[in-house]
Amino acid sequence: MRSVVLLLGLTLSLPVLAAPAHVHGEARLEISIDGNTLAIHLETPLDGLLGFERGARSAAEKQAVKTMKRILEQADHLFQMTREAKCTALAPQIESPVFDTKPGDGHLDLDADYRWQCAKPSALRGISTRLFGEFPRLKRITVEFVGPTGQKSGRLTPAQPRFAW
Ligand SMILES: [Zn+2]
Repeated sequence: MRSVVLLLGLTLSLPVLAAPAHVHGEARLEISIDGNTLAIHLETPLDGLLGFERGARSAAEKQAVKTMKRILEQADHLFQMTREAKCTALAPQIESPVFDTKPGDGHLDLDADYRWQCAKPSALRGISTRLFGEFPRLKRITVEFVGPTGQKSGRLTPAQPRFAW
């Protein structure tokens, strides 16, 4: 009986472990280098970007959503990487229920995918981000990196917005 209960507990807790945590003020960056492509996936609760996590109601909130999207679309403004790698940004993809006509309630997230084509990817040594400056509610970013040099994880803060590999 005891083992059945344990097993149930494990089964129930697994999806929670697999899903990234929704913690206000925190974000997650997955950085990968594959051939000439540098990719960054950003995932964060909307709270850290907007201060609210449901559909915009007032004119001011609607404007805030537009402004947020415009900032997030500026890949080369938000992320700086080793100059010698000569990376060119492709158009990012920004996705969130907040852009839908019926976003719903609850804790909404945002996902953004960035991609660069680099002439000399072997020169890439790290990135720094302006996300903290643009979104002051953001306090911490967890980073997972995978590239030709292996895997590395780290944590960025407003005082330490640079990740090297
Ligand atoms: Zn939330």
